[in-house]
Amino acid sequence: MKKNMPVPIKTEAVKEWVLDKNHLSYWLRQLRKDFELVAPLRERNDIVLKRIDRIHEIALDCPASIPSPKEFLFPQFEPMLTKGTDGISDLRDGSKRVIFGVRSCDVSAVNLLDKFYLSGIADPYYESRRKNTLFISLVCNVPDGTCFCAGLGTGPYLKTGYDIQLYDLGDRYLLQAGSKDAERLVGRHRFLMRKPSKTDHEDQYEAQASSKAMFAERISLEGARQMITDGKVADDFWQDVAERCFECGGCVYECPLCTCFSVIDRKYNAGPADEQVERSRLWDACMFKGFTGMAGGALPAEKRILRTKRWFYHKLIYYPETLGAFGCTGCGRCTITCPGKIDMASVVHRMGNEYSKG
Ligand code: SF4
Ligand code: SF4
Repeated sequence: MKKNMPVPIKTEAVKEWVLDKNHLSYWLRQLRKDFELVAPLRERNDIVLKRIDRIHEIALDCPASIPSPKEFLFPQFEPMLTKGTDGISDLRDGSKRVIFGVRSCDVSAVNLLDKFYLSGIADPYYESRRKNTLFISLVCNVPDGTCFCAGLGTGPYLKTGYDIQLYDLGDRYLLQAGSKDAERLVGRHRFLMRKPSKTDHEDQYEAQASSKAMFAERISLEGARQMITDGKVADDFWQDVAERCFECGGCVYECPLCTCFSVIDRKYNAGPADEQVERSRLWDACMFKGFTGMAGGALPAEKRILRTKRWFYHKLIYYPETLGAFGCTGCGRCTITCPGKIDMASVVHRMGNEYSKG
């Protein structure tokens, strides 16, 4: 360690502790007594987020999971209510859950989902899950080659907006609590922790610098937004992008910030005396031709170029206008998922090459 190493500027509001790595699994076991514990684990060649039964299965030496934590706040399929002869039963999920080991970009995504689902009239199903979920995120020290959060300020570490944030300092973690709920949760197991020293903060500074340095590519979403609003990006560009789309919906499903859904009603146990109807919602995708279909059969977005263009416009133009931030955290999942090589990073990169001059 160099002498006089600068240390991160910390606001007084942030409460910090140090947890020896030998105590991590005991701490998680304690948390599991009161919460469903969800964490990343390896399944064949994938990293997935799942309820954890065996602590030693948690995989922290890996990039962000696929799918994203969105699944636990806005599930792919969510029963909402049933209606039968006994009346209406509300099925909203209020399970107490800790999601451990997610990356900073995904916490940034949840902050934006909160704005989307909870501003104005709150979505009660999202709200119920969200207020019972606490995230313990890990500052990213193993980014994938597809990640570009560092240039967007959505990672690899966060200054605000986290519940509990962990810095990996080798043999120990520096914990930061960003909310009163988080402080209370840590407070229950303070006997496992100590206050950070100057050396811990110096190591934290090094961890910040080295994690940022791992991101080679800088993608300018602001540059792309500007080119679009200046009218520089021709429809030929979008046509070329759209021609490579297979309409699989993978980009929408895997993106931690895509929020399209449909609602369906199904009858079951149908009979004259016992008819039950279940109402559920399930992910839908604006990339599908039928998504904006109307009862009379009209398809306002029948042409693929309209849907492809809208996906990018939504993230680059409408999200900043309505929620104050880009609808992209640089997680790189669309790069991994899209079979047509249409993804935020490559489209923005190509836009820059074609239109940034002149
Ligand atoms: S657009 Fe792509 S890189 Fe951006 S948040 Fe969505 S999946 Fe991640
Ligand atoms: S993942 Fe790619 S191919 Fe599939 S719908 Fe999205 S843009 Fe089209």
